[in-house]
Amino acid sequence: MADRDGFIWYDGKLVDWRDATTHVLTHTLHYGLGVFEGVRAYETSQGPAIFRLDDHTERLFNSAKILGMSLPFSKEEINEAHKAVVRENKLKSCYFRPMAFYGSGKLGIAPPSNDVHVIVAAWPWGAYLGDDGINKGIRVKTSSFTRHHVNVTMCKAKANGNYMNSILANSEATRDGYEEALLLDVDGYVAEGSGENIFVIRKGKIYTPDLTSCLAGITRDTIFQLAKEHGYEVIEKRITRDEVYIADEAFFTGTAAEVTPIRELDGRAIGDGKRGPITTVLQAAYFAAVKGESAQHAHWLTLV
Ligand code: PMP
Repeated sequence: MADRDGFIWYDGKLVDWRDATTHVLTHTLHYGLGVFEGVRAYETSQGPAIFRLDDHTERLFNSAKILGMSLPFSKEEINEAHKAVVRENKLKSCYFRPMAFYGSGKLGIAPPSNDVHVIVAAWPWGAYLGDDGINKGIRVKTSSFTRHHVNVTMCKAKANGNYMNSILANSEATRDGYEEALLLDVDGYVAEGSGENIFVIRKGKIYTPDLTSCLAGITRDTIFQLAKEHGYEVIEKRITRDEVYIADEAFFTGTAAEVTPIRELDGRAIGDGKRGPITTVLQAAYFAAVKGESAQHAHWLTLV
């Protein structure tokens, strides 16, 4: 990743990709306290468009607030940084990684509040769980690792350190030959994937876990809206793993994962073991929205 041509927005300046480095005594590298986002821009007939940029930037600032981190840039400046990296890197579509981290000014648990740095990087990135995953669905395994508890780490913050738990779960699942992990919360109820929210469909009704230990996904929120437009209600409730086993359909959502059907959990086929009909409708509606093909969702797009 480090050896590429291009530019990264780093503390207000566009820096050559290879020079966007930091010191080994960087606080966040040691303790994991930082906040980040995953954002995408898609190619549209009007050029590259960033999907729900304001919402991502708002979540970035909320994550920082939760962790007591004060960002030295305004939301408008961060939004402009996203546009700048698309333009300067001549990207048609991309994945963005905005991140705020503490610098190397002082080590020790409490970092100095005036040592916060911000980057926004962008590069082309295809389907996170593979094109086959998008079309045919993925195989998922319930993780032996439990998802965060609301009072251990802060679940509403998209915080760097929270992802150690995701990495443990995802590596376990992929090592065992699955494409993704499903994590349960401390009470044993379904929480989310390592980087995705989950939806299950049974008898024409759509269910998703309520917002306790899972991240308040922006794609999750998008699906609520699209489902409503297609006449479906999304019910937020506690879901057990065996409810997923007997679901007619299930899918993951995330900026990276987009809308990825789940065709199997723990060796049990979900429904017919392929992308189900309601998932197909919502997935198509999602791709139409992000690609600027549905006029009523134009307000979700920021043209570059
Ligand atoms: N849960 C976790 C743990 C995630 O990392 C992500 C990706 N940001 C999501 C859910 C989905 O969030 P979003 O739809 O906002 O990308």
